[in-house]
Parts: sequence; C-alpha cells; structure tokens
Amino acid sequence: MSTRAAFLHASAEMVAAVDLVVCRPVDALGFIRAAARGDRRAARVMTAVDDALHQLDAAPPRSPLLCAACPQPLRPGTAYSFVVHLPVDERTPYGFALGICRRCATSRAEVRRKAVAALRVEMPGLRVVEATHASGGRA
Ligand SMILES: [Zn+2]
Repeated sequence: MSTRAAFLHASAEMVAAVDLVVCRPVDALGFIRAAARGDRRAARVMTAVDDALHQLDAAPPRSPLLCAACPQPLRPGTAYSFVVHLPVDERTPYGFALGICRRCATSRAEVRRKAVAALRVEMPGLRVVEATHASGGRA
C-alpha cells in the first residue's frame, strides 16, 4: 500500500470510527453530573441528547420522529432511550442522538445492538470503538 493509499485508508477509518454511548432515562442524571464536573465526553453526549429532544418537541404531530429501530413514533413525554453517535475524532465536537423506543429498548445491550444495526444501514463501514470512560462506563 502506498503512503497516500495508507493515509486515505487511515482517514476513512477515523471518519468511520464512532463511540456509541447509550443514554437511557436512568442514565441522564449521571451524564449531567459528569458534564458539570467537566467531563467532555458527557458534555458531548448531553449536547446531542438535548438537540434530539428539541427536534422531538419541534416535530409536527403528523410527522413525529421515529424510533431508529422500528416505525414507532417517539413522542415527547414518553420513555425512550438515546444512542449517541460520537465521532472518535474530538475535533468534531458534536455527535448526534438516535431515539430508540421503549418497545425496542429492553436493555442497554439491546439499545446498543439495535442502534448499530440502524446505523450500519446508512454507514456500512461503521467501526464502533469500545471506549471506557468515567462517564457512563463502558460505551
Ligand atoms: Zn422501536
């Protein structure tokens, strides 16, 4: 592999490498506290979740945002989890959050598995990094 090809390959790997963070309703307070203590990853998670909540609130009733794993609408005030897609490269400051409905989200592992499946439809080259951080434990 030439140097240029190796560089392009490494760049593509960086773009495709993501840290997926599960944020269930019971996890939110821990992320908020960690962000308040200066945890950058927790702050990125909460920024993405906050953006998703604003989108949920702003969605017209006739075209609500849908669960990432099934056609169930995500309505404000109902319980759902988020999976936050954070680029590993922190120069990209923000990630985005996918909502997973309560029916699909039976456990942390199930939320994660369904989010990876949904993301791989759009990004077949997605590489999920197993990151361990103070906030939220193992990603
Ligand atoms: Zn669902």
